Amino acid sequence: MKKIKGIPASPGFAIGKARKVNDDFFSFSEIKKIKEEDVDEEIKRFHESITKTENEIQQIINNIKKITDKEYAEIFSFHLSILRDKNLMERIEKIIKRERVSAETAVKKFVVNLNKEFSENNLKTRKKEILDIFERIIANLIKKNDRLKDIKDGILVANDLSPTQTVSIDKKYIKGFVISMGTETSHTAIVAKALEIPAVVGIKENIEEIKDGDTILIDGYEGTVIVNPTQIEIEKVKSKEKEIRKFRKKIYILKGKKTITSDGKEINLYANIQLPEEVETALKYGAEGIGLFRTEYLYLKRKDLPTEEEQFLSYKKIIEKFGNKEIIIRTIDVGGDKFISAFQGPKELNSFLGLRGIRFCLEKRDVFLTQIKAILRAGYYGNLKVMFPMITTKEEVIEAKKIIECAKKELRKENLKFKENIQVGIMIETPSAALVSDDLAKEVNFFSIGSNDLIQYTLAIDRVNEKLSYLYQPCHPSVLKLIKITAENAIKNNIEVSLCGEMASIPEIACLLIGLGIKKLSMAPVAIPSVKEKIIKNSYTEMKEIAEKVMNFNKHEEIINFLKKNLK
Ligand code: PEP
Ligand code: MG
Repeated sequence: MKKIKGIPASPGFAIGKARKVNDDFFSFSEIKKIKEEDVDEEIKRFHESITKTENEIQQIINNIKKITDKEYAEIFSFHLSILRDKNLMERIEKIIKRERVSAETAVKKFVVNLNKEFSENNLKTRKKEILDIFERIIANLIKKNDRLKDIKDGILVANDLSPTQTVSIDKKYIKGFVISMGTETSHTAIVAKALEIPAVVGIKENIEEIKDGDTILIDGYEGTVIVNPTQIEIEKVKSKEKEIRKFRKKIYILKGKKTITSDGKEINLYANIQLPEEVETALKYGAEGIGLFRTEYLYLKRKDLPTEEEQFLSYKKIIEKFGNKEIIIRTIDVGGDKFISAFQGPKELNSFLGLRGIRFCLEKRDVFLTQIKAILRAGYYGNLKVMFPMITTKEEVIEAKKIIECAKKELRKENLKFKENIQVGIMIETPSAALVSDDLAKEVNFFSIGSNDLIQYTLAIDRVNEKLSYLYQPCHPSVLKLIKITAENAIKNNIEVSLCGEMASIPEIACLLIGLGIKKLSMAPVAIPSVKEKIIKNSYTEMKEIAEKVMNFNKHEEIINFLKKNLK
């Protein structure tokens, strides 16, 4: 038995066989030579493997279409286009002929060369996906069956997963994830949470301790992985799981109830969603609305850009499921760790500090205008508000609002229905925005604090760097001060303020945020019941007193301990 400590990324327990995803399919060293007379046969075998790979990808597309919105299948259209690229495939055939090597050796040689090309041109952003296709071809040639699609039961263990891989995972078969890279706010972790699959990330080089086929037990609450657990360990987890299930059941009863503190203050708990299928999860856990609707999903898995009509229909479909519940849609937030193939600009050394969020939108105004038009049109069908990410200055807000006016003008001309009086808000996720929030408040209808980024930018730590996860401190006094300033300025200017970062999903911290004046919290749907349970047990007056006291503390841990001790 061996216990590995990682970072909890998605709650839940899972036990099963480790299914290691071989990252390095290209590491086999054997160079298989063939005879001249076998060259034609080998080329035939190569073509058969391409056909087989094509069929597999088509099958994935069909499967994804069955369980989710059609758009997700688009990622794999790129895979198909590579497989159908005659030029690329002829280059491999030539290697077989010229060097008289087996098809798998030729593919490997080709990939080694391609790797050099990656570093020289802009294919780099699609490197993972391109390698994935050639891995599939090799797997079919050497009949090795350790592709993700072949995992019918078990816990996926991998160094990293691309967003493409994450969305292709079949929830029916995968019981959990163990990923060596990442932190709780990396987008792979967010998707795991969205799909309600237990996950532990950031176990770093300890991944080597897990062998394919080992029995592993993962605890997504604590972030631990036990390799080959003893019966005692298994029993311990089973009883813990039973307790949690009981607790969940109890909390489930709370679903239809309002979130009211013990002294009568009403709090609103909203959900964050990033995929259309999460709407059901959000409703299941009793979300009163959507506090953050991330829209990157429409852009992430394709080479081209979504049209206005496509976006409009996708947003409308989600909005309609919520009746007249409020939905806050966030305009596209590319950059950072979210790359979009349709925009392969020059590589940025500090992508989180680069052309991200609103900066990108104001640079690519046509893309922005298209999205705004789609949002305004979808807004006609529900209670929709719009917000902009990554704001640092007032000028950005003014410019973005001009685009809204421009979109309205175009829609009027086109005689299309749209939400004329849409409320406009901004994310407060940079220290700059928090510090000038008094000024910014005069320009907008609401603030939504994006604590994931606010923590990253305040403490100058890369949110996806697991080596720095110890510094990812939501209750660092500097972060709390910025949140307090923002809340005070929102209240002073009579506009609404909510918080939609991951910290809202920690029950004790949620109470602290309420004490700081934030009465609307948005979180992963699965977190809503526990947060609600905590809030209704405590009084607003106490939360305010606690918040006042902790503002004098100077350590994250100290604050967390104080909250745990002083809240019921
Ligand atoms: C945040 O930064 O807190 C946030 C909610 O946005 P994202 O995680 O999408 O950057
Ligand atoms: Mg953010």
